[in-house]
Amino acid sequence: MKINGNFNNLQESYLFLDIANKTKDFQKTHPEASIIRMGIGDVTLPLPKACVKAMEKASIEMGIKESFKGYGEYEGYEFLRKAITDYYKEHGVQFSIDEIFVSDGAKSDLGNILDIFDKDNIVLVPDPVYPVYVDTNIMAGREVVFADANENNGFLPLPDSGKKVDIIYICSPNNPTGAVYSRKSLKAWVDYANRQDAVILFDSAYEAFIDDSKLPHSIFEIEGARTCAIEFCSFSKMAGFTGTRCGYTAISKELVRQGKRLADLWLRRQSTKYNGTPYIIQRGAEAVFTPEGREQINENISYYKHNCAVIGEALSSKNISFFGGKNSPYIWLKCPGGMKSWDFFDYLLESCNIVGTPGSGFGRNGEGYFRLTGFGSAENTQLAAERIIKTL
Ligand code: PLP
Repeated sequence: MKINGNFNNLQESYLFLDIANKTKDFQKTHPEASIIRMGIGDVTLPLPKACVKAMEKASIEMGIKESFKGYGEYEGYEFLRKAITDYYKEHGVQFSIDEIFVSDGAKSDLGNILDIFDKDNIVLVPDPVYPVYVDTNIMAGREVVFADANENNGFLPLPDSGKKVDIIYICSPNNPTGAVYSRKSLKAWVDYANRQDAVILFDSAYEAFIDDSKLPHSIFEIEGARTCAIEFCSFSKMAGFTGTRCGYTAISKELVRQGKRLADLWLRRQSTKYNGTPYIIQRGAEAVFTPEGREQINENISYYKHNCAVIGEALSSKNISFFGGKNSPYIWLKCPGGMKSWDFFDYLLESCNIVGTPGSGFGRNGEGYFRLTGFGSAENTQLAAERIIKTL
């Protein structure tokens, strides 16, 4: 028996473990310190009431012979896929329900989609970004090249027409930088992918945080995307489903490579390795799109964004430059005085008792930057802002 040797090529990510250990050590030596955690990428507000009500009702149905459900459809129940296609229509995007695939979240789909691609594909990943894209490709033994995201390009790299790649990751709004692609820039990626027969894997896990009506929520708002893009969406940050687990992937039937529809390959993959998202959860997700659900999720998103505004004001008052925070729950700040990411981590912990995430954990270009999130409580965020203003 041989293990998958590609695992030896993974860089051990000690980021969150290191953060936890350093924080624990600091608390031990400073038991009086009240530490505020602003590094978290998880939501803290409870599920919207509309979702809870829908899941309660669905649980009761499952206990009654006439309405009990066993295995569901691999690609999700029609009621949820219909609600998702209606949501897409709000952004002018038309999908038929057999182009929508419901799952237990974007992370699984982002990893699992790689089953439908050959090993010999060159993969382009922005740097810095959500580390899952790189790690899942390394596990599969694929070559990864990077697109530099930096201050010069507003953390939104554009295609390099001289380079040939096959699979392109785009995360917009971006984790960790909070940067969001404009229609014009996305069009450049779509045209580049179509020219090269490449496929774009577009992660829109944070689309619900976009306020600016000029910015696209979906890559399918861009002409030409249907023949080159797959979109990954999630109820996690949109509706607090990080622990409830539901997401969806959109693949147009027009996306064809080597005579095969990628939507068909994905359905084949899912029906072989996945037995569907629980009925109860799908009913909860459906409720996100009701008027009541929409109002409740918007309230929660506004709460997190208000937190970002509070942090942003505190940083501005100290002349610390930052990006994001407006159409995203993430604030990406430049470490003051040219400090390195981990040095700023120590400094912020010691001076303000605030814990954040060193930017270097998201890629080489993250060095010298730092991520703070709006996912904490309003009280703690206010307290953190006061400490930054007074002490930093
Ligand atoms: N995509 C991005 C960019 C993320 O930051 C996250 C989670 O933090 C995910 C996907 C995972 O989403 P899910 O909870 O639906 O698996």
